[in-house]
Amino acid sequence: MQQLTILGATGSIGSSTLDVVSRNSDKYKVFAVSGYSQVNRLVEIAIAFSPQFIVTKDKVSAQQLHQALPSDLQSTITLKFGDEGLDYISSHPQVDTVMAAIVGAAGLSPVFSAIRAGKKVLLANKESLVMSGELFIDAVKEHGASLIPVDSEHNAIFQCLPHDYAYGDGERSGIEHLLLTASGGPFRAMDIEALAHVTPEQACAHPNWDMGQKISVDSASMMNKGLEFIEARWLFGLSAENIKVVIHPQSTIHSMVQYIDGSVIAQLGNPDMRTPIAHALAYPERINAGVKALDFFSLDKFSFEAPCQKRFPNLFLAIDACKRGQAATTALNAANEVAVQAFLNEQIRFTDIYTVNNYVVKQHSDARLEQLSQVIAHDRLCRECATYAIEERKI
Ligand code: NAD
Ligand code: MG
Repeated sequence: MQQLTILGATGSIGSSTLDVVSRNSDKYKVFAVSGYSQVNRLVEIAIAFSPQFIVTKDKVSAQQLHQALPSDLQSTITLKFGDEGLDYISSHPQVDTVMAAIVGAAGLSPVFSAIRAGKKVLLANKESLVMSGELFIDAVKEHGASLIPVDSEHNAIFQCLPHDYAYGDGERSGIEHLLLTASGGPFRAMDIEALAHVTPEQACAHPNWDMGQKISVDSASMMNKGLEFIEARWLFGLSAENIKVVIHPQSTIHSMVQYIDGSVIAQLGNPDMRTPIAHALAYPERINAGVKALDFFSLDKFSFEAPCQKRFPNLFLAIDACKRGQAATTALNAANEVAVQAFLNEQIRFTDIYTVNNYVVKQHSDARLEQLSQVIAHDRLCRECATYAIEERKI
């Protein structure tokens, strides 16, 4: 029985993980979960999975949760809160596997706790890897943790690589390119001039995937693919020159690896995150994910296009940041989190997200970040810079 901690259990990835676990309850036990503030959802999870620990945002939400729990669970479940609580359930000696599914930079500290405790880490929280890159990968090696990608594209690539692929082994493995596929999001075919006037609701209405708000906006701006470009660079140890982005609106091919002998290996499936989650949980075995089998006779025709820089400037900004190095990618991630939140709050326009990101990256790409504390300080500085740009109308 594998003991599992799910960070961000109340979110979209968290819910899909719980669904896969409930189909395989002979193999996985939910040891601990975290949720930020959705007390009602945490009560449902507590009743269905009886974890030993639940971590909430703060003391107040922990008290609310305690009162809302049925009395038998009040005595069996220990409640914790805040960063300390997250670090505790990520590194607990009884835990084998940690699903990192908190959104954004808030996931950085608990994912490092899991790595330092040598856990099997299933990584959905791409922002933590984008923020800390080499430090993240070095920590995985140093502490003997294992890292399995949950992001569908990276999980697909993981499945298409040689089974003994080692970090940075691109040339020896005959890899020419990783081909990251992208749906192009809801605005792929919209008039470019109209992008300045789209609403948060339109940006969150993804054609193929049902996801949290932040990643939905990132998908609409293709910043998500930019973050994934940087994520791929670090997960597989390849250079930016070995990674390409291909728009494939049907989202059936989840990514591909192109080899020097002309072979291309792809992973296909219905767009349902339970597939990569189940793969990551069971690797190297396979388990039932509850996902409908792909029916080739009812598929749309497959199409492919190159991303347009004018429509998706954030993608190109991210690729450029990836080439520039750690400070640039940390800056970009921080600026983007602030800008996306401001767009969701209707403080800025959709197209201003790029303007804020570019403003911050231009100013904060040259720092040397050699320790986690420096990454965290740089993240904070860049958030302040983005907030200033928005509030003082510098953009
Ligand atoms: P979501 O918004 O649905 O859920 C986010 C989770 O994080 C929730 O449980 C929330 O309570 C928690 N959370 C939010 N802010 C927090 C904070 N400050 N401290 C602690 N916990 C906090 O997001 P999601 O769509 O499930 O995405 C989660 C992560 O997985 C993101 O990094 C996203 O990029 C990545 N991802 C998601 C998908 C998808 O299909 N949803 C696909 C690939 C990767
Ligand atoms: Mg993805």
